[in-house]
Amino acid sequence: MAAAIHYQCQRCTACCRWPGQVRIGEAEIGAMAGLLEVTEHEFIQRYTRLRPSRDGLALMDKPNGECVFLEGRDCAVQDAKPVQCAGFPNTWNFPGWREQCEAVPTLVNAPASF
Ligand code: SF4
Repeated sequence: MAAAIHYQCQRCTACCRWPGQVRIGEAEIGAMAGLLEVTEHEFIQRYTRLRPSRDGLALMDKPNGECVFLEGRDCAVQDAKPVQCAGFPNTWNFPGWREQCEAVPTLVNAPASF
């Protein structure tokens, strides 16, 4: 086993408020619709928009730019949140992300090939 860094989310919500889009696919729509107890059609109508690239859907934003599911420091779909959200910042991030995100680095054991 080797040591690896895992960034522990602190729910600072910076990633739920900064400009951009949360891309979602069919499985994620089904999971979030199920959690909210609405049909997939209702979910798409109420909470999604066409991506600028027109190659799929993204979550809606509130007028202030926040994600439609951000409620204070909480995510209204936490238990079924999109892969893009769940993977940040450990499976993907971008240059300079640490300047905005308060995630705390922790050492974890990982397979030597990690
Ligand atoms: S779905 Fe949840 S975690 Fe993802 S951006 Fe929206 S509020 Fe944040």
